[in-house]
Amino acid sequence: MKKHNFTAGPCILPQQVLKQASEAVLNFNNDNLSLIEISHRSVPIVEVMENARKLVLELTGLENKGYSVLFLQGGASLEFLMTPYNLLKENGKAAYLDTGTWSAKAIKEAKLLGDIDVVASSKDKNYNFIPKGYSIDSNIDYFHCTSNNTIYGTQMKSFPKTDGLMVCDMSSDIFSRNLDFTQFDLIYAGAQKNMGPAGTTLVIIKEDILGQTGRQIPSMLDYQIHIDKDSMFNTPSVFAVYVSMLNLQWLKDLGGISAIEKINDAKATLLYNEIDSNPLFEGAAVKEDRSNMNATFLLTDSSLQEKFDNKCKEAGIVGINGHRSVGGYRASMYNALPLESVQVLVDIMHNL
Ligand SMILES: *Cc1c(COP(=O)(O)O)cnc(C)c1O
Repeated sequence: MKKHNFTAGPCILPQQVLKQASEAVLNFNNDNLSLIEISHRSVPIVEVMENARKLVLELTGLENKGYSVLFLQGGASLEFLMTPYNLLKENGKAAYLDTGTWSAKAIKEAKLLGDIDVVASSKDKNYNFIPKGYSIDSNIDYFHCTSNNTIYGTQMKSFPKTDGLMVCDMSSDIFSRNLDFTQFDLIYAGAQKNMGPAGTTLVIIKEDILGQTGRQIPSMLDYQIHIDKDSMFNTPSVFAVYVSMLNLQWLKDLGGISAIEKINDAKATLLYNEIDSNPLFEGAAVKEDRSNMNATFLLTDSSLQEKFDNKCKEAGIVGINGHRSVGGYRASMYNALPLESVQVLVDIMHNL
């Protein structure tokens, strides 16, 4: 049975990418060797890393603008610590916007290294909105925010201007919509939400922001070392980078971020229209801050839960259970999810 995969992460990838990836595991480049049994320093793998970096810069419009692309390990969770290590001056200060579990975890790590100012938080409303109208001190080293709150289904539609550096965790919406990426000095994203399989973390970093903190940075946490070594300071997760590269190539062939943004808008509009017009459902996040990637919603009549769940199951829908901290449902509509899958879900909601 065909599955409609709404899982929040690791998540859906294009069939074509999975097919190419599986072929490369058996026989990479027709060399009768597997992608995962050859040296990361061999020419074809170095080419994969270079091509992946190039695609990231091309798709985000950041070519020749002083940015480096890294493929690291440790997930977005390790970036929570690497960010302050590399950007927070000794005796300096950073500002954080608290919009969900992932923001809160980033704040917790940063507090290990210095003075962290939480400029606003939506925690008391169970993170169902994005705070606005807060002020940010002018003497900060950097401002950190989470562009899309995977668990709560909220998304920042605009970003503040600050006097410090701009850092953004884009794990769950990178490559999903057009942004002026030059407004950010450091972007990071765990691959497994919208870029590839779990196992690598994308970091896009403006080179000239490094080396200013006066801190001793452990090698594995030092962005400059990873830049100098082309993400091969230690053995990179070759397979995860390769599949990410295939997926980025798929996106480029489709027409890039502008093309996928239209499709993502269409998917989100279709689902949110049903949530808003159907009295059996209600959205969990405030309307103006709704995420186009993760739609969170609840049944207004909980006695219908079993019926709804069964109908979804019969239709091959997987992964729409809400995160335990929100309850209800969460439909993740990452780039590779076709509009047709959203239509299947909407039809079930409509005829419940
Ligand atoms: C999933 C997620 C993370 C954590 O990513 P890991 O790669 O598992 O460490 C961080 N931030 C956001 C926004 C996420 O969605």
